[in-house]
Amino acid sequence: REDDGAYMLEESDISEVLAPRSPDSHKGTHGTVAIVTGSSDMAGAALMAARGALRSGAGKLFLRVPARTAPYCIGRQAEAMVRGVGTGDHFTAADAAEIIEESRNWSVLAMGPGMGKQEDTRMFLKEVIAHTSCPLVLDADALNLLAGERDFIAPYGGRIIMTPHLAEFSRLSGLPLADIKKDCIAAAKQFVREWQVTLVLKGAPTVIVSPRTLHAYVNPGGNAGMACGGMGDILTGMVAALAVHDGMTSLTTAACAAVWLHSAAGDICHDTYGSYGFLPMEVADAVPRVITRLE
Ligand code: AMP
Ligand code: MG
Repeated sequence: REDDGAYMLEESDISEVLAPRSPDSHKGTHGTVAIVTGSSDMAGAALMAARGALRSGAGKLFLRVPARTAPYCIGRQAEAMVRGVGTGDHFTAADAAEIIEESRNWSVLAMGPGMGKQEDTRMFLKEVIAHTSCPLVLDADALNLLAGERDFIAPYGGRIIMTPHLAEFSRLSGLPLADIKKDCIAAAKQFVREWQVTLVLKGAPTVIVSPRTLHAYVNPGGNAGMACGGMGDILTGMVAALAVHDGMTSLTTAACAAVWLHSAAGDICHDTYGSYGFLPMEVADAVPRVITRLE
């Protein structure tokens, strides 16, 4: 449905791109997802992003966390291949070369959840963004660290999806929160015109904008039970896994599918629990049921 220059996402849009899997597919077919995430006091973000990717069908999943975060993550999600990077509790510029080299074997790289806002993590991020050729999903602290860096990002925008919530979007874009809230579709389109990225502006509703067409897609689903720390980290992993799904024709299509599935999974949890106390991990765990239910 088209109104105000925005298209309202529907279930049929998602079922079209999530075709049934070929019976002879293998883990290589379903994409190698990597997530660069975590810091000393936000190791949980790494595990939640991992679960979002795995529950959305990632073929293989690599987690790269700062060395001191690794002991917490190893073994807590058995399917993830976890390795500590560097020697400290956050990523530094010295860690970039290793990630850039490894990324030659990855189909998509998500960065940001729980990374922390240290100045040397900014240097790390910019190095990786400039030197990898992977499609990138940037969320959370990666966005906080890239606030105002439009001139740096725009040349790489064609392979970047950004997933800010409203406060992160305000910091990133420099737009006052009140202006964004007044017309979030217009704010999202203006941002994408300037930054050239695929944007997922999270909220109620969530707005997705394509850098190629500047079309906006609106997802009205989800519920207030999803307003809980970690919910966005699940989405980060989902966006990454769907970005390398064979049915996806563009990063915008993948972003729309992930956002729709995430909110539909949240609505399943709402059916069970109501608006209080369901967990981000439970939302991730509901995703396969949402996919199975698609016509
Ligand atoms: P974050 O703030 O990064 O943890 O992301 C929160 C996620 O939960 C986003 O995908 C939001 O769209 C979703 N969410 C949070 N609150 C609501 C709400 N009241 N209605 C619908 N979705 C929500
Ligand atoms: Mg978040």
